[in-house]
Amino acid sequence: MQTARTKSQSRSAVKSWKQAGESVAFVPTMGNLHEGHLELVDVARQHADRVVVSIFVNPTQFGEGEDIDNYPRTLDDDSTKLAEKGVDLLFAPGVSEIYPDDSSQATRVEVPKLTGILCGKFRPTHFIGVTTIVAKLFNIVQPDIAVFGEKDFQQLFLIRKMVQDLDFPVKVIGASTIRETDGLAMSSRNGCLKDVERKTASHLYKTLSEMAFILKKGDNDFRSLEENASKILENAGFTVDYVSIRRVRDLQTATSNDTVLVILAAARLGETRLIDNITVDI
Ligand code: AMP
Repeated sequence: MQTARTKSQSRSAVKSWKQAGESVAFVPTMGNLHEGHLELVDVARQHADRVVVSIFVNPTQFGEGEDIDNYPRTLDDDSTKLAEKGVDLLFAPGVSEIYPDDSSQATRVEVPKLTGILCGKFRPTHFIGVTTIVAKLFNIVQPDIAVFGEKDFQQLFLIRKMVQDLDFPVKVIGASTIRETDGLAMSSRNGCLKDVERKTASHLYKTLSEMAFILKKGDNDFRSLEENASKILENAGFTVDYVSIRRVRDLQTATSNDTVLVILAAARLGETRLIDNITVDI
């Protein structure tokens, strides 16, 4: 596996593959890799000749008071895992390589209709940071394919929209959520949970699964289902940001006519914010 620390190193590796007629799949991450990330690498491998993974803890997607300094950084371990997976290129730039002037560069990429809903309500600048860094990484790596996790459903949705609206020549593929044995979606943030919080954490997926079961049985009183689920989670010890039943096609609030749905939730245990979602066809 090659490792690039600069944009030009990354560009020249990709250029040589493209000149040889090879296709390139890209998996952007913030590192501290777990099985969920490695699943994305497997999906990428199925779709292209070469796989590029980036590790970059992007400052612009962390809001005020969100602790970027304590985000887990495990580059050596991550690099070993990616090499074992047969990744062709690890792109691991420093902050000054990506934002040479300062971390609040003048140009931003935003999908306004979607940045202020769901997680965006609680993290108002987060998705602008995400779409801007992904646009930059697409321009640096120039992949044919990019793989993102369905675990971050709103993020995946926003990136698909950005790619469509701005005509990026990139095919976006969503990969299913990888879970711990008790159902908790794998996340780099799970390591921040205290023992007792870790036990409680599995209630998030359990509650969403119960909602999905009830929806499938034909209950379409979506608002009271959301309220009940929030109460259940609060009683279990979570501070709930939202539990919301949305339409898959545009992420707007679902009404009783809608049948292709996604239940999304964000809730905090102590300092740790967890998100999860389940799609349901009724
Ligand atoms: P992150 O490093 O948290 O920014 O995530 C990098 C990519 O991995 C994103 O596309 C995430 O959606 C994806 N991802 C994170 N956790 C999981 C998981 N448990 N299963 C599948 N994909 C995941």
